[in-house]
Amino acid sequence: MALTNPLAPHDLLVFFSADNPLLQFTIDTLPVPIFYKDVNGVYLGCNRAFEDFIKISRQQLVGFSVYQLFDKALADSYQQADQALFDNPGVQIYEKEIRTNSGDIVFVKFHKTSFFDAEGNVAGLIGVIFDVTEQKALEAKLTQHATFDDLTGFYNRREGAAIAVENMVLAVNGEIEFGVIMLDVDHFKRVNDQFGHGVGDLALQHIAAIIKQSNSLETTVIRWGGEEFLLLIKAPLSDTVASRSNDEHDFKHDMLVIANDIREAVASTPIKLDSQLVHLSISCGVSCYTKQSLRALINEADELLYQAKNNGRNQVCG
Ligand code: GH3
Ligand code: MG
Ligand code: MG
Repeated sequence: MALTNPLAPHDLLVFFSADNPLLQFTIDTLPVPIFYKDVNGVYLGCNRAFEDFIKISRQQLVGFSVYQLFDKALADSYQQADQALFDNPGVQIYEKEIRTNSGDIVFVKFHKTSFFDAEGNVAGLIGVIFDVTEQKALEAKLTQHATFDDLTGFYNRREGAAIAVENMVLAVNGEIEFGVIMLDVDHFKRVNDQFGHGVGDLALQHIAAIIKQSNSLETTVIRWGGEEFLLLIKAPLSDTVASRSNDEHDFKHDMLVIANDIREAVASTPIKLDSQLVHLSISCGVSCYTKQSLRALINEADELLYQAKNNGRNQVCG
């Protein structure tokens, strides 16, 4: 994005092209990589931090264009960004993932400013590079923690509720059929009581792995609470409309099948906890979206889940 305030129209091209020891000394003392180029992408100069950054010496750089120094794809990407600044002189700031000459992948933030010659024509740019690799890694980590549950890798409740609302909008617009499965592990307190909380966590991960394998329709899995999972199920409406006359492909029926498949998979896959083979089971409530609120939709699924519990557990109600 180019903003206003390019370096004012003086003959800065001469200034930047000339061998200028004071300028060189000044920029060499700055620890951030600095470079300047003309409008053809030919380097006019750089500081020591830039030499270290791209692993090319100033002598090998000055007088050469990006096309002589880098492979065509990288040179094109630099020249395109530079051209956008020359077309719209001012300040340009953007982030980019790049591969350094030593092969490392780094995230950098470019700050570039165009400058003019004596006639007031855009003559080149001066750029500064900030290495934001660590900041990006931290951002990614924070986003991961804010979005997903650590134990299971599923969406957390806040993010999951937002996705549910997006699906509700698609359903209201007639683009998809949408519904939810509320799933709760049966008698899970007993697992914790018998084996301890740490082993209980392993049992939860075992169930999460089974849920992950069930991918019949488009499914989003949310860790809704402790050992409660909410599955968001959607199907493109075109599929369901075409087959609506056919009971076998009824959306609700599909959801019940998904829930039952998971229930069966959990019931038939015992887990070894402290060298004991333990049989776990789950119960599910299945509810279709019919333009009610998210809270009402989830309450319906919850009520059906508790019906399944009251009926003896290890079953699906819908
Ligand atoms: P029900 O069949 O009625 O669901 O019986 P339940 O024992 O599973 O009862 P409930 O669902 O109310 O209890 C859930 C238990 O799950 C209580 C809590 O200690 C345990 N729990 C919740 N989150 C975690 C967790 O992250 N790790 C472990 N190990 N246990 C958890
Ligand atoms: Mg439970
Ligand atoms: Mg529970």
